[in-house]
Amino acid sequence: MPMLDDDEFRSVTGKRLLKDTKMPLREQLAPVLKEYNRVTGRCETNVNAVYHHRLSMYGPPCAKCGKPLRTPRAKLCGSCMHPVESAA
Ligand SMILES: [Zn+2]
Repeated sequence: MPMLDDDEFRSVTGKRLLKDTKMPLREQLAPVLKEYNRVTGRCETNVNAVYHHRLSMYGPPCAKCGKPLRTPRAKLCGSCMHPVESAA
């Protein structure tokens, strides 16, 4: 399943309609799936899968450049190659 980067994730999940208690959650989230499928070219039908496939289950921001580390266990910043001091 394709992962989404931060911009894609924001774009996709931003399609969620405003909270409307009269509308079933499934329908509120339908545009999220539609956008996800547009971005990835998939036919995903489970919106939970979209939320679980955000690429950034990221680490903390880089101490040097402030970009989020690619993973919580990254030893190097993917953007500026600054070593992560606190890597266990
Ligand atoms: Zn960095």
